[in-house]
Amino acid sequence: MVGIGFGPSNLALAIAVHEHNRRHPDRPVDALFLERQADFGWHTGMLIDDATMQVSFLKDLVTMRDPASDFSFLCYLRDRDRLAEFINHKTMFPLRTEFHDYLSWAAARVTDQVRYGAEVVSVRPVETDGVVTHFDVIAKDAAGAIGTVRARDIVVATGLRPKLPADAVPSDRVWHNIDLMHRLPGLAASDPHRVLVVGSGQSGAEAVAELHTALPRTQICSVFARYGYAPADDSPFANRIFDPRAVDHFHGAPAEVKRMLLDYHRNTNYSVVDMDLIEDLYRREYRERVLGRKRLDIRNSSRVTYTRETDEAVYATVEFLPTGEVEVLECDALVYATGFRPLDLFGLLGRAAAVCERDSTGLPVVGRDYRVRTVDNVTAGVYLQGAEHSHGLTATLLSTTAVRVGEILESILGVQAVAPERVAVH
Ligand SMILES: Cc1cc2nc3c(=O)[nH]c(=O)nc-3n(C[C@H](O)[C@H](O)[C@H](O)COP(=O)(O)OP(=O)(O)OC[C@H]3O[C@@H](n4cnc5c(N)ncnc54)[C@H](O)[C@@H]3O)c2cc1C
Repeated sequence: MVGIGFGPSNLALAIAVHEHNRRHPDRPVDALFLERQADFGWHTGMLIDDATMQVSFLKDLVTMRDPASDFSFLCYLRDRDRLAEFINHKTMFPLRTEFHDYLSWAAARVTDQVRYGAEVVSVRPVETDGVVTHFDVIAKDAAGAIGTVRARDIVVATGLRPKLPADAVPSDRVWHNIDLMHRLPGLAASDPHRVLVVGSGQSGAEAVAELHTALPRTQICSVFARYGYAPADDSPFANRIFDPRAVDHFHGAPAEVKRMLLDYHRNTNYSVVDMDLIEDLYRREYRERVLGRKRLDIRNSSRVTYTRETDEAVYATVEFLPTGEVEVLECDALVYATGFRPLDLFGLLGRAAAVCERDSTGLPVVGRDYRVRTVDNVTAGVYLQGAEHSHGLTATLLSTTAVRVGEILESILGVQAVAPERVAVH
């Protein structure tokens, strides 16, 4: 098996493989994961010191699949000698930096299965007697050298791509929030007068708070179309949409029910912000009003209609939607917190895309076991992690990762898929 991408999804799968091989040395799975980054890293540009996880630590890489696994977040804490301190903290939501350290700790334990600095550029079907039995996965290293690995099954988990507005031209001054912590030192050194952040989701709000803290002499301007930041729904009934069982319900549902469920529960994940952070931003803005030193400039119900960049600055035309009033703001940087778009699976697969079936909207048809449906003469498998259209809101998140990879491994091993709560790879 070759895994394409080595973020949390395929890391969890590498662990499942590792544990399977430990239990069944007679029936090992030969797995290799190809990752384009030089080392393990999980959204390193958003590792803001005090940002916390938006998922319980119990939804780590293994616990929902096998609570006895020694790859759990609790075992990580024990290894780091912080178990008692974490318990005293009484939180389900670790710091994002701490979770990153957990993921890196786990990745280091399965490093024999990973090749870093290998970007997959295409996949070719390999035929024997008219049947596609394997895939050749073609990857390039940092120096541009091309290599090929043959696999019976491939598991694609390449995550989401940052999305910019169609007319945005990325530059040293104009960038996506995913680069925030990488850009911040340079930005701070330039002693900026004003930074503008577009977007009202969690990332936008985090970027505004971090910039406001890290650049104490800079005006931070937050532009978004909503009237106010909207809170994320993390109430317990709504949270069930992230349960393994919900994946069964979603996958089997008619297309219009799928659409309805995605719409109803968008506010668990998209364009919403943790309530604590909303209140924190409100407190900051109000305090500045009282003190008469307004540095946090919230431009609600507004949008950027035009931008122009010169050597000295980027000029953003901001329209206040209720009145149509416009103002041109001179900024040192323009940060787009405008979300992510799904991976183009077929673009990644190249020639192998031809063996995959598509639905009426052009998206891959993905079975409950995450295997992409292929045309008749194919025995090799394409598995996909991250398909929201087939598996619902959890597909791009961490909630069901542990269970999902157990199901994928079961499928690869040729075992009939069973109800998720009973899946354990032994
Ligand atoms: C700042 C931030 C915070 C988040 N916090 C949470 C949270 O608290 N809870 C939650 O549930 N979700 C959260 N998410 C959602 C996030 O999508 C998941 O946490 C998680 O990253 C999904 O894992 P993944 O492995 O599927 O994708 P990714 O983490 O995106 O990993 C994909 C990997 O594939 C690699 N790759 C891509 N293309 C190729 C290629 N062609 N060849 C080789 N390698 C390639 C990438 O370099 C990357 O390492 C957050 C997202 C962001 C951006």
